[in-house]
Amino acid sequence: MRRAIPFVFCLILVLACGPSVAAEKRPLEFRMFTGVEASLFPNSVLILGEKEAVLVDGQWWLSEGEKLAQMITGTGRRLTTVLITHAHPDHYMGLQPVLARFPDARVLARKAIRDEIRFSFQSKRRHWQELVPDDMPLEPPAVEEFPGTAIELEGHQIRFVDLPPSETLVATAFYVPSARALIAGDLIFADSHSYLADVDNPASWIDALSHARAAGPIETVYPGHGPAGGPEQIDAAIAYMKVYAEVARPGVRVADMAREMTRRYPGHRGAILLWLTRGPGFALYGAGEMGVPPELMPPPPPAGTGKP
Ligand SMILES: [Zn+2]
Repeated sequence: MRRAIPFVFCLILVLACGPSVAAEKRPLEFRMFTGVEASLFPNSVLILGEKEAVLVDGQWWLSEGEKLAQMITGTGRRLTTVLITHAHPDHYMGLQPVLARFPDARVLARKAIRDEIRFSFQSKRRHWQELVPDDMPLEPPAVEEFPGTAIELEGHQIRFVDLPPSETLVATAFYVPSARALIAGDLIFADSHSYLADVDNPASWIDALSHARAAGPIETVYPGHGPAGGPEQIDAAIAYMKVYAEVARPGVRVADMAREMTRRYPGHRGAILLWLTRGPGFALYGAGEMGVPPELMPPPPPAGTGKP
């Protein structure tokens, strides 16, 4: 009888653990879609379960949104949800073709982001429409306010990480604990200059980076612009903001700041973002007069753009 005890114990253990091992969640897959250079190469991140998918951010131009929609369709998954990191047009205006293909998908964002999209969509469209007049939607997507802490994709949590003011006053990063993945949105421009026109507060941006890092263990970072990488992208972004704070001291003119930042980061993409950082002055005086090197001006849109 004594000998039977270990056997019975093992049997109980197998019965107790067996089914949970069998039911272990299938790991999520991540795929990134990057828009063309002239649309400022925004990233959309697709999180794939076995049958369903969640998309984070939805491109700028409709023609890019169409390519993204084709990529999602090609995965064979049903898109259930779109999450928006912030209310900049390069992250949501291109959603229309995606939502046309997946009309049941819900678009979720924090209330302030939902409101900004709703109330400033037309001004953003007018501001940028000359770039590609026929390649932006006429109306914003319908966005629902999401007040909770996380959504689920086939049993995996996707957590909302509310950020202190960084690129925009309000922004959300997303953290997926089972994949140790941070989807950072424009909190991180990887190997690229950052866009500081909205808030231009590097100290608060550094706070936001520290806040995102505290979301949990991070192995992979999906930035808003630039290639995916590891947690070193957070350190690089903090270092960049410290350099920017030193270079863009009060009184330093945009042309001097931009030249110095491009000198310090010669390999970075997106140098035009430095010049766009001081929007109104830039528009008043014109790119040429402000000394923007002509090679930094965005190239003309690819042929056929605007007729998706
Ligand atoms: Zn962006």
